[in-house]
Amino acid sequence: MKIKSMNHKLLKTLLIGLTLCSLFSMSSMVTQDEQSAFSKEVQKLIDSGISKDDIKDYLRSHGYANDIVGGTQALKEAEASGYFNNSNSSTPATTTTATPAPSATPTPTPKHEHKYSVKLTKDPTCYEEGTLTYTCDCGDTYEEPVAQLEHQYTDTVTKEPTCTTEGERTYKCSLCGDTYTEVIEAKGHMDGQFIITKEPTCTEPGEKTVYCKVCNEEIRTESIDPTGHENTDTRLTPSGLFSAGKEEIYCLKCMKVLETRVIPVPVWHYVVFGIGVTIILIILIAVWIGRIAHKK
Ligand SMILES: [Zn+2]
Ligand SMILES: [Zn+2]
Ligand SMILES: [Zn+2]
Ligand SMILES: [Zn+2]
Repeated sequence: MKIKSMNHKLLKTLLIGLTLCSLFSMSSMVTQDEQSAFSKEVQKLIDSGISKDDIKDYLRSHGYANDIVGGTQALKEAEASGYFNNSNSSTPATTTTATPAPSATPTPTPKHEHKYSVKLTKDPTCYEEGTLTYTCDCGDTYEEPVAQLEHQYTDTVTKEPTCTTEGERTYKCSLCGDTYTEVIEAKGHMDGQFIITKEPTCTEPGEKTVYCKVCNEEIRTESIDPTGHENTDTRLTPSGLFSAGKEEIYCLKCMKVLETRVIPVPVWHYVVFGIGVTIILIILIAVWIGRIAHKK
């Protein structure tokens, strides 16, 4: 009887202990299965290229920092909705294969995985972005912008410039039709033929009028440099008995004397003249002396 009642007491305490234990574990403890499901989900996300920090940030910002059960479910949902695909995960996708936890048990597959079809719901223009809409059969949608287009301008000359007036070039966008114009500078006259209105001389400049090659308008009057004395010749005036001669270089075109060189009287002119005068004087003196002698 005594033993029986003792057994009863033991059973009672065991039962109470077990209930307390299970209650305690339900409220604050995490079972090994739950822990394993969480680490498996985290590992799966890391394998798909999401950084540990991104996962931690997500859990913290959604209030699951200390709630593994809620966190596991939240991570699954975030992954299925493409949340991590859109976040700027800085770590590249790793190629290492997942190493399952030793005590891992197969996790239940999520009820619904979004499968989005893409549609261009707004064409991009030269002024605005377009829109791509992703839609899942479940009704979940999200949008992505399509880059704005750039104007594709082609240009044509809509007004030809002349020598003195400006022209115009028009640019038109082949996508939106936008246009703008640009001024083409006047081409300016081009030197063409000229007419000499005054011939230059050896020393005096001449004048010519230049006309435009394109429009034939008179552009300007230019002076023509003097030609300078071109062909020269030498004229010789020989010296006389006592007069000096000269040598002149003159221009054959304008006959102007350019250079004169004096030719002096040769010395022998004076020598011969002196000897002649001396002989005559001697003869005269001799005749004069002869006359005086004859008178005596
Ligand atoms: Zn869906
Ligand atoms: Zn455009
Ligand atoms: Zn011209
Ligand atoms: Zn000359």
